[in-house]
Amino acid sequence: MTTDMDVDQILTLFRDCVGGAHVLTAHEDTAAYTEDWRKKYLGKALAVVCPGTTDEVACVMRIAHAHATPVVTQGGNTGLSGGATPDTSGRQIVLSTRRLHRIRHIDTANDTVIAEAGVVLQALQDAARAHDRLFPLALAAQGSCTVGGNLATNAGGVAVLRYGSMRELTLGLEVVTPDGRIWNGLRTLRKDNTGYDLKQLYIGSEGTLGVITAAALKLFPRPKAMLTAMMALGSLGDAVKLLADARGALGPGLTAFEVISAPCVPLLARHYPALRWPFTESHPLVALLEITDHDSETHAREGLERLLVDAMERGLVVDGVVAESLAQSQALWSLRESISEAQGLEGAHIKHDICVPASSVADFVSQAEEALARDTPGARVAWFGHLGDGNLHFNVLAPEGADSKTFAARQGEINALVHDLVSACNGSISAEHGLGQLRRDENQRYKTPLELSLMRQVKAALDPSGLMNPGKVLASD
Ligand code: FAD
Ligand code: ZN
Repeated sequence: MTTDMDVDQILTLFRDCVGGAHVLTAHEDTAAYTEDWRKKYLGKALAVVCPGTTDEVACVMRIAHAHATPVVTQGGNTGLSGGATPDTSGRQIVLSTRRLHRIRHIDTANDTVIAEAGVVLQALQDAARAHDRLFPLALAAQGSCTVGGNLATNAGGVAVLRYGSMRELTLGLEVVTPDGRIWNGLRTLRKDNTGYDLKQLYIGSEGTLGVITAAALKLFPRPKAMLTAMMALGSLGDAVKLLADARGALGPGLTAFEVISAPCVPLLARHYPALRWPFTESHPLVALLEITDHDSETHAREGLERLLVDAMERGLVVDGVVAESLAQSQALWSLRESISEAQGLEGAHIKHDICVPASSVADFVSQAEEALARDTPGARVAWFGHLGDGNLHFNVLAPEGADSKTFAARQGEINALVHDLVSACNGSISAEHGLGQLRRDENQRYKTPLELSLMRQVKAALDPSGLMNPGKVLASD
């Protein structure tokens, strides 16, 4: 620590800010905060500090700033890029937002909500529902991830196709700067062209510029009906055509368009045998569609059935099921939402969270599959994800029976093979999971020197001491 104060004195200052019970230092209390969700990164913290108000966050930041203590902000710790894990030095504090869990205001006339950063996403969805409104961000970690984490990673999920990612859902922010000043930008306006849009810098900044303490977010009318369908297809090219047809036929009624490739199916059967796959024959992929309707269920069903019949007549869809009840709909969604964990249970796998234009998805996948078959014969390429946004979780599993360590050691080469092809399609190597520490160095390879230099200038302007989440997104100097 670059200060003449000793650790105990600094901890006393933090205790004075937030109360002794909210500064955790014992290993058994801090352990859950110093390892990431995937158990890929293990760090060490000087302390886990849990402020309960924005003023307390500001107090913590003033002390951290005065004593050159780096700060790693953490919400639900569900991030997939190691962004919320401190390094191994034991010098950094984890600033947990879990006590910032109030929903401050819901304005149904303006369709907005002001929520603190530590509000769990599902609690926000429930609060909106209690006011007969919809907060549309939805992802499998919604029972644990927080509004602050969703903002700091610009989270996506399954409803981006219709409602956009967290960025599109945000109207204003409250942020504590690295030196402990509070910026109240909690405007609930849909129009505001008064200079640089500062909130956009903090959204997606992964805790490297400041601490987001609250946000003003958009609410939407709750649809009257929701239907789910699964359709089996012969190729990814057909899925892209079906997506265009579905958009044309259903307009904003199409809220989700997910895909699951064939190699995911045996993983689900092996690790989640209670889940029932709806098709008996095997197909190269299936699409999972969600349709919402503001008129009635009958109207929604007519639209969906017409789409399905037309697509079957055109030969795009080989087989299909439409859920008849909420339970059936949840059963179809469980299949989609269990893939990630089934891959984890299967053993060594190398993840990619890529985005390419919808028009390039099919070419990208066939090129990447061919290149992997040449490079790593037997590797299982089990992709799935949000085709509606051109975003696939393009995951590569070790060949059956292969040594996991040998396979995992090839991560760098396999990443380069996949990401070079993504880049050739003008795509992104991190569609929704951020860079954190996982993709920090690779990002240097795909961004231009000018873009990287502009990013560094923003970092230097907003965090001149470099104390906010050092080593994440950009390498620390
Ligand atoms: P954390 O993991 O605690 O932190 C993530 C990053 O945000 C870190 O860099 C941290 O420093 C920073 N941060 C957190 N809070 C703040 C704050 N208040 N101020 C400033 N910086 C902050 N993501 C998607 O986008 N789409 C998905 O479909 C999706 N599915 C997932 C499924 C599973 C099963 C899991 C485990 C994760 C999934 N994720 C998905 C990733 C993850 O859930 C999201 O990135 C989520 O938004 C992270 O929220 P969190 O509160 O857990 O953040
Ligand atoms: Zn996803």
